[in-house]
Order: sequence, then C-alpha cells, then structure tokens
Amino acid sequence: MRGTAGVCLSSLQNAVLRRLLPFSSAGLLPRTRKQPYQPPGGPPSEQALDSSAGPHRSCCRRAAAWATVLSALRPAAGAMCNGDGCTARCAPEASLQSILASNRLWAHEQTQHDPSFFSKLKDQQTPEWLWIGCSDSRVPANELLGLGPGEVFVQRNVGNLATHKDMNVMSCMEYAVTVLKVKHIIVCGHYGCGAVKGALTLPCATPGLVNLWIQDIRDTRDKNIELLRKLRGPEQVDKLVELNVMRQVFNVCTSPIVQQAWDAGQTLAVHGLVYALSDGILKQLTPPVTSLGDFEEFSHEQELDGLRHLSLSVLEHMSFEREALRRTSMERQASQRPQQDGSTPTAPAGTTFA
Ligand SMILES: [Zn+2]
Repeated sequence: MRGTAGVCLSSLQNAVLRRLLPFSSAGLLPRTRKQPYQPPGGPPSEQALDSSAGPHRSCCRRAAAWATVLSALRPAAGAMCNGDGCTARCAPEASLQSILASNRLWAHEQTQHDPSFFSKLKDQQTPEWLWIGCSDSRVPANELLGLGPGEVFVQRNVGNLATHKDMNVMSCMEYAVTVLKVKHIIVCGHYGCGAVKGALTLPCATPGLVNLWIQDIRDTRDKNIELLRKLRGPEQVDKLVELNVMRQVFNVCTSPIVQQAWDAGQTLAVHGLVYALSDGILKQLTPPVTSLGDFEEFSHEQELDGLRHLSLSVLEHMSFEREALRRTSMERQASQRPQQDGSTPTAPAGTTFA
C-alpha cells in the first residue's frame, strides 16, 4: 500500500500505531498487558520520513506522512474493536488517540509555520472580536472567520441566544467587554438551525431542557406570527433564524454590560450575521450598532414586522431608562442637600436594591 507522499506505509503505520494505540488488537498490534502505557508520540521519525520519495521538503513530507497515517489509523481503529479480546474501552481509546495524534500534527504545523506561535499566545490574549453563535458543529467561529487562536473570544450555545438571565453568556460578555476590551460583538445565527426549527415545530409541553431553552425563540416566533404564517418549510425556519439574530442583537445592546461600555465611551460595535451552511458565506443582517439609537434607527427603517416590534422595544427601553436616570439623579441631589435639623442624610429609597 502506498500513500499520497509515496510512502510505503506498512512499516511506518505499524510503528506509529504501536505508539498511538496502547492496547491489544485483533492480531494487528500484539501487546502484552505488562507493557506500560505510552502516551502519543511525536511526529514520525526522520528515519521513517527519509524513506519517503518525492520532491517535497522535509516539513511537507512530515505533514503528508502524518495525514496518510491518520487516515489509515481511523478505519484500522474501528476494525480492531470487532475482533476477539476487544474491550468496551477499545473504540473510545482508539478515537481519543486518533484525535490526540491529529492535535500533535496541528501543533507541529503551527510551529513549522511560525516557531513563536505558541510562545506569543501563552501569556496574553487580545482578541478584538466576541462571537456569540450556535453550538452547531458545522458553525465553527474561528474557521469561518479565517481567524486563528487568540483572535476571537467565543461563546456558543444552542440557538445563539444572549438572554439577560443567562449567566454564562452575560459573564462571558462582561469579561470580553470589560477586561479584554473587544471592539466587536458578533451575534451569528445559521440557516437551518435545529433550535429554531424546534421552536416552530415542537409543542411547549415537549419534555427536555433544550425545549425549555428555546423558549426565547418561541417568544420571537409569537411576536412575528403574521409574517411567519405567510411562509412555509425551510423559508419559515430561515426567516425565524434571522429574526432570532435581531432579537439577540437587541438583547446584547440592551444588556447592562454593553450599555455601561457605551456610556463610558468605549469603542464597541454589535453586529448581527447569519451563516449559510450551504456555501459557507456570512450575510450581514444589521449595520454596525454602536448605540441604542443606531439600532432603533435601523429597525425603524425596515419593513419586517419583527424589526418594527424591536424598534418599539428599543424606544420603550430608552424611555424607561431616561426616566430611571432622571429619578436617580433627583434622589441623589436630594440626599446631598443639608438637612434642616443638621442630621446626616439617609440613602434615598430607590438607590438600593435591598
Ligand atoms: Zn443552530
């Protein structure tokens, strides 16, 4: 058997498999129980690589050899667990060793490309972007943005939600905005999202935590029922995907974290995007939002019922916020005025939460 790099794999494969798979197999890799556990080894030896033919330079040959070995390893690992003497741990162990070997290959490639790659990242991270996206395995933030490690802070959950009472997303956002000082927050949905599909098709009474989790998407569904009823099937799902992104952008913009950052003059833009699984392209749903006014203006101009609703929500939010600020300011002034009887002013009602 010859691999893509022209390597005769039989001996190399066995040599590497011996290092990667520390368990007995159905005759492929005889091993006694007394042998100590061997963690995954490094890249193939120079000796093994020297046997490869072709015009590639050493690093290219190394990567090609690893890729060939890994592709050979996966079916081999699967087959090994069908034989006599296999245990329930064989398949998961083989999968783990395969993915650890893949990790070593990746780490090796990074340092081949840039020897200081890991030393630069070790002590600091200064990402400019916070990504709030769906947990769907087909929507990996770094890869589809073309950004490497250290360039994007990531929060993912089912349905890319950013609800104010979710301590996970809010604490992540707080750290990203106040400590890392990210300059952008992306809320990204994706067409064909299973969470959104569930919000359209599953009855509320369906058991399970995921069903409870997607309740916020159901709220968006209910507020846009007339628009959604005009659509069917995937079109209906995809429209609710977009409306859900808008709703989450609204949540991000009205969160105390982002409001405080904007009040303090921090540079911070919020973006609503949607990703197409079919072609890997991101579509921009909102212009960069750098204030609540930006969001209100944009949503007011749109024809969509959902955005008109959010526009009103923003106006209502701003109106209540202004009122609360005015009340707090008046109460603060009152508390600072000297008391006629000379007593110490007490904290006014409304300035504490207790
Ligand atoms: Zn999804």
